Amino acid sequence: MLIDERTQKILFAELLVSNDLEYSETHLIVDAQSIHSGHYAMSPAELLHIRDLDISIGTAMSVADTLEEFFSEPTDEFVTCPVCFESDSGTIEKVGHFLNTHMTFHSFQFNSLPMINFGEGDDKKGDSE
Ligand SMILES: [Zn+2]
Repeated sequence: MLIDERTQKILFAELLVSNDLEYSETHLIVDAQSIHSGHYAMSPAELLHIRDLDISIGTAMSVADTLEEFFSEPTDEFVTCPVCFESDSGTIEKVGHFLNTHMTFHSFQFNSLPMINFGEGDDKKGDSE
């Protein structure tokens, strides 16, 4: 079983409220979803292939929408690096890593700048003499 019992009960209620389904039909859908697909919402085609379940294409599409909403990922964070303006999106953990990497890299660039300029200054002085 890929989905815990509590989630199955909530999904069962959600499907009953959002769609015009019988209790027996809803049971078949929740069972198929939890046994075969886990937290990846079944597509209308997958729903139409559930054994003993007789629903219309319209109902399958409506149920698929409900499943997709039910299992959808939490909304992504979107960040832009203030130095190079590169952007990334994803979980807080992912964008945090992105920002940390950019801060480290850009501070390295900034800190090594005086050394590079110092070398260039020497060359120009040497040329003018
Ligand atoms: Zn950057």
